[in-house]
Amino acid sequence: MENFIFQNPTKLIFGKGMIARLATEIPVGVKIMVTFGGGSVKKNGVYEQVTAALAGRDYIEFWGIEPNPKIETLRKAVAQCKREGVDFLLSVGGGSVLDGTKLIAAAVRYDGDAWDLVRDGSLIGEILPFGDVMTLPATASEMNRNAVISSIETKEKYGMKVDYPRFSILDPQTTFSLPKYQRAAGMADTFIHVMEQYMTVTGQSPLMDRWSEGILQTLVEIAPRVLEEPHDYDTMADYMLCATMGLNGFIAMGVTEDWATHQIGHELTAINGLTHGHTLAIVFPGLLKVLRDQKMAKILQYGERVWGITEGSDEERATRTIDATERFFRSLGLQTRLHEVGIGEDTICEIERRFNERGVAFGEGHNVTGTVARRILEEVK
Ligand code: NAP
Ligand code: FE
Repeated sequence: MENFIFQNPTKLIFGKGMIARLATEIPVGVKIMVTFGGGSVKKNGVYEQVTAALAGRDYIEFWGIEPNPKIETLRKAVAQCKREGVDFLLSVGGGSVLDGTKLIAAAVRYDGDAWDLVRDGSLIGEILPFGDVMTLPATASEMNRNAVISSIETKEKYGMKVDYPRFSILDPQTTFSLPKYQRAAGMADTFIHVMEQYMTVTGQSPLMDRWSEGILQTLVEIAPRVLEEPHDYDTMADYMLCATMGLNGFIAMGVTEDWATHQIGHELTAINGLTHGHTLAIVFPGLLKVLRDQKMAKILQYGERVWGITEGSDEERATRTIDATERFFRSLGLQTRLHEVGIGEDTICEIERRFNERGVAFGEGHNVTGTVARRILEEVK
Protein backbone atom coordinates (compact mmCIF):
# COMPACT_ATOMS: atom_id res chain seq x y z
CA MET A 1 0.00 0.00 0.00
CA GLU A 2 1.23 3.52 -0.80
CA ASN A 3 1.40 6.25 1.85
CA PHE A 4 -1.64 8.51 2.00
CA ILE A 5 -3.33 11.28 3.94
CA PHE A 6 -7.12 11.12 4.11
CA GLN A 7 -9.37 13.92 5.28
CA ASN A 8 -12.85 14.53 3.95
CA PRO A 9 -14.60 17.31 5.83
CA THR A 10 -17.93 17.39 3.97
CA LYS A 11 -21.01 16.92 6.13
CA LEU A 12 -23.33 14.60 4.21
CA ILE A 13 -27.02 15.19 4.92
CA PHE A 14 -29.03 12.43 3.32
CA GLY A 15 -32.70 11.58 3.01
CA LYS A 16 -36.30 12.63 2.56
CA GLY A 17 -37.11 16.25 3.31
CA MET A 18 -33.53 17.09 4.24
CA ILE A 19 -33.44 20.24 2.07
CA ALA A 20 -35.19 21.98 4.97
CA ARG A 21 -31.90 21.60 6.89
CA LEU A 22 -30.49 24.46 4.79
CA ALA A 23 -32.09 26.78 7.32
CA THR A 24 -29.64 25.66 9.98
CA GLU A 25 -26.60 24.60 7.94
CA ILE A 26 -25.85 28.01 6.38
CA PRO A 27 -24.24 30.35 8.91
CA VAL A 28 -26.39 33.25 10.09
CA GLY A 29 -25.64 36.73 8.79
CA VAL A 30 -23.92 35.82 5.52
CA LYS A 31 -24.84 37.15 2.08
CA ILE A 32 -25.67 34.10 -0.04
CA MET A 33 -25.60 33.51 -3.79
CA VAL A 34 -27.72 30.51 -4.79
CA THR A 35 -26.54 29.05 -8.10
CA PHE A 36 -28.73 27.05 -10.49
CA GLY A 37 -28.64 25.35 -13.87
CA GLY A 38 -31.21 25.68 -16.61
CA GLY A 39 -34.40 25.24 -14.61
CA SER A 40 -34.94 21.54 -13.81
CA VAL A 41 -35.26 22.52 -10.14
CA LYS A 42 -38.33 24.62 -10.92
CA LYS A 43 -40.14 21.56 -12.33
CA ASN A 44 -39.43 19.05 -9.57
CA GLY A 45 -40.19 21.04 -6.44
CA VAL A 46 -36.56 21.52 -5.39
CA TYR A 47 -36.64 25.29 -5.94
CA GLU A 48 -39.68 25.69 -3.66
CA GLN A 49 -38.02 23.65 -0.90
CA VAL A 50 -34.82 25.69 -1.14
CA THR A 51 -36.56 29.07 -1.09
CA ALA A 52 -38.77 27.96 1.81
CA ALA A 53 -35.67 26.97 3.80
CA LEU A 54 -33.99 30.30 2.98
CA ALA A 55 -36.96 32.46 3.97
CA GLY A 56 -35.77 35.58 5.75
CA ARG A 57 -32.14 35.12 4.62
CA ASP A 58 -30.20 37.60 2.51
CA TYR A 59 -29.68 35.84 -0.81
CA ILE A 60 -29.49 36.42 -4.55
CA GLU A 61 -30.04 33.88 -7.34
CA PHE A 62 -27.73 33.16 -10.27
CA TRP A 63 -29.27 31.06 -13.06
CA GLY A 64 -27.85 29.42 -16.16
CA ILE A 65 -24.81 27.36 -15.20
CA GLU A 66 -24.92 24.91 -18.08
CA PRO A 67 -23.82 21.26 -18.36
CA ASN A 68 -20.00 21.27 -18.60
CA PRO A 69 -19.94 24.67 -16.88
CA LYS A 70 -18.47 27.38 -19.06
CA ILE A 71 -15.98 29.95 -17.87
CA GLU A 72 -17.84 32.55 -19.94
CA THR A 73 -20.94 32.07 -17.70
CA LEU A 74 -19.01 31.73 -14.44
CA ARG A 75 -17.19 35.04 -14.98
CA LYS A 76 -20.60 36.77 -14.79
CA ALA A 77 -21.38 35.12 -11.45
CA VAL A 78 -17.96 36.07 -10.07
CA ALA A 79 -18.49 39.71 -11.06
CA GLN A 80 -21.93 39.73 -9.41
CA CYS A 81 -20.55 38.19 -6.19
CA LYS A 82 -17.84 40.85 -6.07
CA ARG A 83 -20.37 43.65 -6.70
CA GLU A 84 -22.86 42.45 -4.12
CA GLY A 85 -20.47 41.33 -1.38
CA VAL A 86 -21.47 37.64 -1.41
CA ASP A 87 -19.71 35.54 1.21
CA PHE A 88 -21.47 32.15 0.98
CA LEU A 89 -22.43 30.09 -2.07
CA LEU A 90 -25.17 27.48 -2.33
CA SER A 91 -25.27 25.26 -5.42
CA VAL A 92 -28.63 23.70 -6.29
CA GLY A 93 -28.51 21.20 -9.16
CA GLY A 94 -26.21 18.61 -10.70
CA GLY A 95 -22.45 18.28 -10.81
CA SER A 96 -22.07 21.06 -13.36
CA VAL A 97 -23.73 23.66 -11.15
CA LEU A 98 -21.61 22.53 -8.20
CA ASP A 99 -18.34 22.41 -10.17
CA GLY A 100 -19.08 25.88 -11.53
CA THR A 101 -19.87 27.09 -8.01
CA LYS A 102 -16.52 25.78 -6.77
CA LEU A 103 -14.75 27.89 -9.38
CA ILE A 104 -16.83 30.93 -8.43
CA ALA A 105 -15.90 30.34 -4.78
CA ALA A 106 -12.22 30.37 -5.70
CA ALA A 107 -12.44 33.37 -8.04
CA VAL A 108 -14.37 35.90 -5.94
CA ARG A 109 -11.29 36.86 -3.91
CA TYR A 110 -8.93 36.65 -6.91
CA ASP A 111 -8.15 39.85 -8.80
CA GLY A 112 -7.30 38.37 -12.20
CA ASP A 113 -9.37 36.34 -14.67
CA ALA A 114 -11.06 33.19 -13.28
CA TRP A 115 -9.65 31.05 -16.11
CA ASP A 116 -6.13 31.63 -14.68
CA LEU A 117 -7.20 29.50 -11.70
CA VAL A 118 -8.32 26.65 -13.96
CA ARG A 119 -4.94 26.61 -15.67
CA ASP A 120 -2.83 27.17 -12.55
CA GLY A 121 -4.27 25.96 -9.25
CA SER A 122 -1.36 27.45 -7.31
CA LEU A 123 -2.96 30.88 -7.86
CA ILE A 124 -5.98 29.90 -5.74
CA GLY A 125 -6.00 31.78 -2.45
CA GLU A 126 -9.01 32.39 -0.22
CA ILE A 127 -12.04 30.29 -1.19
CA LEU A 128 -15.56 31.31 -0.19
CA PRO A 129 -17.40 28.65 1.83
CA PHE A 130 -20.08 26.76 -0.08
CA GLY A 131 -22.64 24.01 0.30
CA ASP A 132 -24.98 22.26 -2.08
CA VAL A 133 -28.21 20.46 -2.79
CA MET A 134 -27.18 17.72 -5.24
CA THR A 135 -29.87 16.54 -7.66
CA LEU A 136 -27.92 14.22 -9.98
CA PRO A 137 -25.94 11.18 -8.78
CA ALA A 138 -22.76 10.96 -10.86
CA THR A 139 -19.84 13.24 -10.15
CA ALA A 140 -19.44 12.94 -6.35
CA SER A 141 -18.65 16.64 -6.56
CA GLU A 142 -20.80 16.80 -3.42
CA MET A 143 -18.03 15.12 -1.45
CA ASN A 144 -14.79 15.94 -3.24
CA ARG A 145 -12.81 19.06 -4.08
CA ASN A 146 -12.76 18.65 -7.84
CA ALA A 147 -14.25 20.92 -10.46
CA VAL A 148 -14.21 20.44 -14.23
CA ILE A 149 -14.48 23.69 -16.17
CA SER A 150 -14.84 24.32 -19.91
CA SER A 151 -14.23 27.20 -22.28
CA ILE A 152 -16.49 27.67 -25.30
CA GLU A 153 -14.03 30.04 -26.90
CA THR A 154 -11.12 27.59 -26.98
CA LYS A 155 -13.09 24.28 -26.83
CA GLU A 156 -11.06 23.18 -23.82
CA LYS A 157 -12.08 21.32 -20.67
CA TYR A 158 -9.89 20.84 -17.60
CA GLY A 159 -10.18 19.36 -14.14
CA MET A 160 -8.92 21.28 -11.11
CA LYS A 161 -8.87 21.01 -7.31
CA VAL A 162 -10.71 23.66 -5.30
CA ASP A 163 -12.25 22.69 -1.95
CA TYR A 164 -14.83 20.40 -0.36
CA PRO A 165 -18.39 21.56 0.21
CA ARG A 166 -19.11 22.47 3.86
CA PHE A 167 -22.23 20.33 3.58
CA SER A 168 -24.10 18.44 0.88
CA ILE A 169 -27.79 17.69 1.00
CA LEU A 170 -28.88 14.60 -0.93
CA ASP A 171 -32.57 13.79 -1.05
CA PRO A 172 -33.06 10.83 -3.41
CA GLN A 173 -36.57 12.11 -4.17
CA THR A 174 -34.98 14.99 -6.11
CA THR A 175 -33.63 12.46 -8.62
CA PHE A 176 -37.07 11.09 -9.57
CA SER A 177 -37.33 13.68 -12.35
CA LEU A 178 -34.04 12.79 -14.04
CA PRO A 179 -34.36 11.85 -17.71
CA LYS A 180 -33.34 8.27 -18.50
CA TYR A 181 -30.29 9.40 -20.46
CA GLN A 182 -28.96 11.36 -17.48
CA ARG A 183 -29.49 8.35 -15.22
CA ALA A 184 -27.59 6.15 -17.68
CA ALA A 185 -24.76 8.68 -18.10
CA GLY A 186 -24.61 9.16 -14.32
CA MET A 187 -24.28 5.42 -13.71
CA ALA A 188 -21.55 5.19 -16.37
CA ASP A 189 -19.68 8.11 -14.78
CA THR A 190 -19.88 6.46 -11.35
CA PHE A 191 -18.76 3.08 -12.77
CA ILE A 192 -15.72 4.68 -14.40
CA HIS A 193 -14.82 6.75 -11.33
CA VAL A 194 -14.49 3.47 -9.48
CA MET A 195 -12.52 1.97 -12.37
CA GLU A 196 -10.07 4.89 -12.43
CA GLN A 197 -9.12 3.97 -8.85
CA TYR A 198 -9.47 0.18 -9.16
CA MET A 199 -8.32 -0.94 -12.61
CA THR A 200 -4.61 -0.53 -11.81
CA VAL A 201 -1.98 -2.51 -9.93
CA THR A 202 -3.19 -5.64 -8.11
CA GLY A 203 -2.43 -6.56 -4.53
CA GLN A 204 -1.97 -3.04 -3.12
CA SER A 205 -5.01 -3.26 -0.89
CA PRO A 206 -7.49 -6.13 -0.81
CA LEU A 207 -9.76 -3.84 1.24
CA MET A 208 -9.84 -1.07 -1.40
CA ASP A 209 -10.44 -3.74 -4.07
CA ARG A 210 -13.44 -5.14 -2.20
CA TRP A 211 -14.94 -1.71 -1.59
CA SER A 212 -14.58 -0.85 -5.27
CA GLU A 213 -16.01 -4.18 -6.37
CA GLY A 214 -18.89 -3.62 -3.94
CA ILE A 215 -19.80 -0.38 -5.67
CA LEU A 216 -19.43 -1.93 -9.14
CA GLN A 217 -21.57 -4.94 -8.16
CA THR A 218 -24.22 -2.69 -6.65
CA LEU A 219 -24.39 -0.59 -9.82
CA VAL A 220 -24.78 -3.70 -11.97
CA GLU A 221 -27.47 -5.01 -9.63
CA ILE A 222 -29.54 -1.84 -9.42
CA ALA A 223 -29.04 -0.51 -12.97
CA PRO A 224 -32.20 -2.13 -14.42
CA ARG A 225 -34.30 -0.64 -11.63
CA VAL A 226 -32.66 2.79 -11.87
CA LEU A 227 -33.60 2.77 -15.55
CA GLU A 228 -37.12 1.35 -15.25
CA GLU A 229 -38.30 2.39 -11.77
CA PRO A 230 -36.78 5.81 -11.19
CA HIS A 231 -39.38 6.63 -8.53
CA ASP A 232 -38.30 3.78 -6.28
CA TYR A 233 -36.83 5.59 -3.29
CA ASP A 234 -34.52 2.88 -2.00
CA THR A 235 -33.10 2.15 -5.44
CA MET A 236 -32.36 5.82 -6.10
CA ALA A 237 -30.95 6.20 -2.56
CA ASP A 238 -28.46 3.42 -3.22
CA TYR A 239 -27.60 4.86 -6.63
CA MET A 240 -26.95 8.26 -5.02
CA LEU A 241 -24.71 6.74 -2.40
CA CYS A 242 -22.80 4.70 -5.02
CA ALA A 243 -22.06 7.95 -6.84
CA THR A 244 -20.88 9.74 -3.71
CA MET A 245 -18.77 6.80 -2.51
CA GLY A 246 -17.29 6.37 -5.99
CA LEU A 247 -15.24 9.56 -5.81
CA ASN A 248 -15.00 10.88 -2.28
CA GLY A 249 -11.59 9.41 -1.55
CA PHE A 250 -12.80 6.36 0.38
CA ILE A 251 -11.75 3.84 -2.30
CA ALA A 252 -8.49 5.61 -3.18
CA MET A 253 -6.61 5.10 0.07
CA GLY A 254 -3.10 3.87 -0.63
CA VAL A 255 -3.78 2.71 -4.18
CA THR A 256 -2.54 3.79 -7.61
CA GLU A 257 -5.03 5.74 -9.76
CA ASP A 258 -5.35 6.01 -13.52
CA TRP A 259 -7.69 8.73 -14.91
CA ALA A 260 -6.70 8.31 -18.57
CA THR A 261 -10.30 7.47 -19.55
CA HIS A 262 -11.45 10.78 -18.06
CA GLN A 263 -8.71 12.75 -19.79
CA ILE A 264 -9.72 11.38 -23.19
CA GLY A 265 -13.42 11.73 -22.34
CA HIS A 266 -12.97 15.41 -21.46
CA GLU A 267 -11.60 16.02 -24.95
CA LEU A 268 -14.58 14.28 -26.57
CA THR A 269 -16.89 16.59 -24.62
CA ALA A 270 -14.79 19.70 -25.28
CA ILE A 271 -14.66 19.08 -29.01
CA ASN A 272 -18.05 17.42 -29.66
CA GLY A 273 -20.23 18.31 -26.67
CA LEU A 274 -21.01 14.67 -25.85
CA THR A 275 -22.32 14.14 -22.28
CA HIS A 276 -19.51 13.31 -19.83
CA GLY A 277 -20.61 9.85 -18.62
CA HIS A 278 -21.38 8.78 -22.18
CA THR A 279 -17.84 9.63 -23.36
CA LEU A 280 -16.45 7.34 -20.66
CA ALA A 281 -18.68 4.42 -21.69
CA ILE A 282 -17.12 4.68 -25.16
CA VAL A 283 -13.48 5.23 -24.17
CA PHE A 284 -13.09 2.71 -21.33
CA PRO A 285 -13.60 -0.53 -23.28
CA GLY A 286 -11.11 0.80 -25.86
CA LEU A 287 -8.61 1.60 -23.13
CA LEU A 288 -8.93 -1.92 -21.69
CA LYS A 289 -8.28 -3.41 -25.12
CA VAL A 290 -5.15 -1.34 -25.74
CA LEU A 291 -3.75 -1.67 -22.20
CA ARG A 292 -4.88 -5.25 -21.77
CA ASP A 293 -1.42 -6.73 -21.09
CA GLN A 294 -0.49 -4.00 -18.59
CA LYS A 295 -3.79 -4.42 -16.72
CA MET A 296 -4.24 -8.18 -17.26
CA ALA A 297 -4.14 -9.27 -13.60
CA LYS A 298 -6.76 -6.72 -12.55
CA ILE A 299 -8.96 -7.40 -15.58
CA LEU A 300 -9.05 -11.08 -14.57
CA GLN A 301 -9.86 -10.26 -10.94
CA TYR A 302 -12.59 -7.81 -11.99
CA GLY A 303 -14.04 -10.31 -14.48
CA GLU A 304 -14.22 -13.02 -11.86
CA ARG A 305 -15.57 -10.95 -8.99
CA VAL A 306 -17.97 -8.63 -10.81
CA TRP A 307 -19.05 -10.73 -13.80
CA GLY A 308 -18.44 -14.26 -12.51
CA ILE A 309 -16.08 -15.08 -15.41
CA THR A 310 -13.92 -17.98 -14.25
CA GLU A 311 -13.71 -20.40 -17.18
CA GLY A 312 -11.15 -20.42 -20.00
CA SER A 313 -7.63 -19.19 -20.57
CA ASP A 314 -6.48 -15.79 -19.30
CA GLU A 315 -6.84 -14.38 -22.81
CA GLU A 316 -10.38 -15.72 -23.20
CA ARG A 317 -11.45 -14.44 -19.80
CA ALA A 318 -9.98 -10.99 -20.47
CA THR A 319 -11.85 -10.76 -23.77
CA ARG A 320 -15.12 -11.85 -22.17
CA THR A 321 -14.63 -9.36 -19.32
CA ILE A 322 -14.06 -6.44 -21.68
CA ASP A 323 -17.10 -7.51 -23.72
CA ALA A 324 -19.23 -7.76 -20.56
CA THR A 325 -18.20 -4.23 -19.63
CA GLU A 326 -19.22 -2.83 -23.00
CA ARG A 327 -22.49 -4.79 -22.89
CA PHE A 328 -23.25 -3.27 -19.49
CA PHE A 329 -22.97 0.24 -20.92
CA ARG A 330 -25.14 -0.76 -23.87
CA SER A 331 -27.72 -2.18 -21.46
CA LEU A 332 -27.95 1.34 -20.03
CA GLY A 333 -28.99 2.51 -23.50
CA LEU A 334 -25.65 4.17 -24.24
CA GLN A 335 -23.95 3.71 -27.59
CA THR A 336 -20.37 2.56 -27.15
CA ARG A 337 -18.87 3.36 -30.54
CA LEU A 338 -17.78 6.76 -31.82
CA HIS A 339 -19.53 6.46 -35.18
CA GLU A 340 -22.85 5.88 -33.38
CA VAL A 341 -22.60 9.33 -31.81
CA GLY A 342 -21.36 11.03 -34.96
CA ILE A 343 -17.71 11.35 -33.93
CA GLY A 344 -15.16 10.64 -36.65
CA GLU A 345 -11.53 10.58 -37.60
CA ASP A 346 -11.13 14.37 -37.39
CA THR A 347 -11.77 14.29 -33.62
CA ILE A 348 -9.35 11.40 -33.12
CA CYS A 349 -6.66 13.37 -34.97
CA GLU A 350 -7.41 16.51 -32.96
CA ILE A 351 -7.12 14.64 -29.63
CA GLU A 352 -3.83 13.08 -30.70
CA ARG A 353 -2.58 16.49 -31.77
CA ARG A 354 -3.63 18.17 -28.49
CA PHE A 355 -2.06 15.48 -26.30
CA ASN A 356 1.18 15.60 -28.30
CA GLU A 357 1.26 19.38 -28.22
CA ARG A 358 0.74 19.37 -24.43
CA GLY A 359 3.37 16.64 -24.03
CA VAL A 360 1.07 14.61 -21.74
CA ALA A 361 1.35 10.96 -20.73
CA PHE A 362 -1.71 9.94 -18.70
CA GLY A 363 -2.67 6.81 -16.80
CA GLU A 364 -1.14 4.69 -14.06
CA GLY A 365 1.83 3.87 -16.28
CA HIS A 366 2.26 7.42 -17.63
CA ASN A 367 2.07 5.93 -21.09
CA VAL A 368 -1.23 7.22 -22.51
CA THR A 369 0.29 9.72 -24.91
CA GLY A 370 -1.32 11.19 -28.02
CA THR A 371 -0.37 8.10 -30.00
CA VAL A 372 -1.85 5.70 -27.41
CA ALA A 373 -5.01 7.83 -27.11
CA ARG A 374 -5.38 7.49 -30.88
CA ARG A 375 -5.07 3.68 -30.63
CA ILE A 376 -7.69 3.62 -27.88
CA LEU A 377 -10.14 5.67 -29.95
CA GLU A 378 -9.41 3.61 -33.09
CA GLU A 379 -10.52 0.53 -31.11
CA VAL A 380 -13.97 2.04 -30.55
CA LYS A 381 -14.50 3.78 -33.90
P1 NAP B 1 -25.06 18.10 -15.12
O1 NAP B 1 -24.29 18.60 -16.29
O2 NAP B 1 -24.95 18.81 -13.84
O3 NAP B 1 -26.62 18.01 -15.48
C1 NAP B 1 -27.05 17.43 -16.68
C2 NAP B 1 -28.49 17.77 -16.95
O4 NAP B 1 -29.32 17.15 -15.99
C3 NAP B 1 -28.78 19.26 -16.90
O5 NAP B 1 -29.48 19.58 -18.07
C4 NAP B 1 -29.65 19.44 -15.67
O6 NAP B 1 -30.69 20.39 -15.84
C5 NAP B 1 -30.32 18.07 -15.55
N1 NAP B 1 -30.68 17.73 -14.18
C6 NAP B 1 -29.94 17.75 -13.06
N2 NAP B 1 -30.64 17.28 -12.01
C7 NAP B 1 -31.87 16.98 -12.47
C8 NAP B 1 -33.04 16.43 -11.87
N3 NAP B 1 -33.05 16.05 -10.58
N4 NAP B 1 -34.14 16.26 -12.66
C9 NAP B 1 -34.12 16.60 -13.97
N5 NAP B 1 -33.04 17.08 -14.59
C10 NAP B 1 -31.91 17.27 -13.85
O7 NAP B 1 -24.68 16.56 -14.93
P2 NAP B 1 -23.57 15.88 -14.02
O8 NAP B 1 -23.34 14.57 -14.63
O9 NAP B 1 -23.93 15.95 -12.60
O10 NAP B 1 -22.28 16.80 -14.20
C11 NAP B 1 -21.46 16.70 -15.34
C12 NAP B 1 -20.24 17.57 -15.18
O11 NAP B 1 -19.48 17.17 -14.02
C13 NAP B 1 -19.28 17.48 -16.36
O12 NAP B 1 -18.74 18.74 -16.65
C14 NAP B 1 -18.22 16.54 -15.85
O13 NAP B 1 -16.98 16.70 -16.52
C15 NAP B 1 -18.13 16.95 -14.41
N6 NAP B 1 -17.55 15.96 -13.49
C16 NAP B 1 -17.11 16.39 -12.28
C17 NAP B 1 -16.56 15.52 -11.38
C18 NAP B 1 -16.09 16.01 -10.05
O14 NAP B 1 -15.43 15.26 -9.33
N7 NAP B 1 -16.39 17.23 -9.67
C19 NAP B 1 -16.46 14.16 -11.67
C20 NAP B 1 -16.92 13.72 -12.91
C21 NAP B 1 -17.47 14.63 -13.80
P3 NAP B 1 -30.67 21.89 -15.25
O15 NAP B 1 -29.44 22.54 -15.74
O16 NAP B 1 -31.92 22.46 -15.79
O17 NAP B 1 -30.69 21.76 -13.74
FE1 FE C 1 -16.48 11.74 -14.19
